[in-house]
Amino acid sequence: THFGFRDVAAKDKQKLVGEVFTSVAGNYDLMNDLMSLGIHRVWKRYFVGTCQVKRGDRVLDLAGGTGDIAALLKDRVGESGEIVLGDINAGMLSVGRDRLTNRGLVSGLDYVQCNAEALPFPDNSFDLVTIAFGLRNVTDKQAGLREMYRVLKVGGQARVLEFSEVTVDWFKPVYDFHSFKILPRLGQLFAKDAGSYQYLAESIRKHPPQEALKAMMDEAGFARTSYKNLSAGIVAVHTGYKV
Ligand code: SAM
Repeated sequence: THFGFRDVAAKDKQKLVGEVFTSVAGNYDLMNDLMSLGIHRVWKRYFVGTCQVKRGDRVLDLAGGTGDIAALLKDRVGESGEIVLGDINAGMLSVGRDRLTNRGLVSGLDYVQCNAEALPFPDNSFDLVTIAFGLRNVTDKQAGLREMYRVLKVGGQARVLEFSEVTVDWFKPVYDFHSFKILPRLGQLFAKDAGSYQYLAESIRKHPPQEALKAMMDEAGFARTSYKNLSAGIVAVHTGYKV
């Protein structure tokens, strides 16, 4: 595969993922729009709009990247609420902070550079933990889910928004053609970076599909786990609770 990503050791994967996101940080909106034909904005709005969250809550948004989810969440927790935006990549975090600041979102927002596999927060710290389009990049996903569970308060909700497995047969070849033929070319054309886009398409195919991810959430300790497919399973929203 491109860059031989599929064969690299786990410890190298983290470095490579870092390089990919450093490389795409400045073109992030463009990347998302190319990957999803613009629909990612609708998915994100649905994801945040249906979270269990209220005014004054403390929320952790992991792999928070450029702050799209944090901005939507801030609206839901209000002035008295707090959003902690965690991301492993300093470049993505600073793009996110600039974007949120430029939109006038400053108070009640914290930025923490951290690895989702080993979070620097005490147990039972957050009312809601979210990760959107981030889990597939985490090397040890089970450790990431365990950490989400650990830092969640009892009664709290964890939510994962991630590319998943298309469930409609006729659409599968169309989707593959978009991912593997069109996307890297658009990436080359607009961002001069076909390799990173190819990596992203491959990482989507390797991510655990709906039922497998639900089973991993069960394994991590979550109760009442469930998922909802959006856009024929191009993405799925997984939900779990700490009881
Ligand atoms: N959540 C944002 C959104 O939906 O627009 C950004 C998603 S972006 C595709 C993935 C993000 O995951 C990047 O910002 C990357 O730096 C971050 N990431 C990758 N591996 C991570 C890890 N192990 N821990 C925390 N963040 C990670």
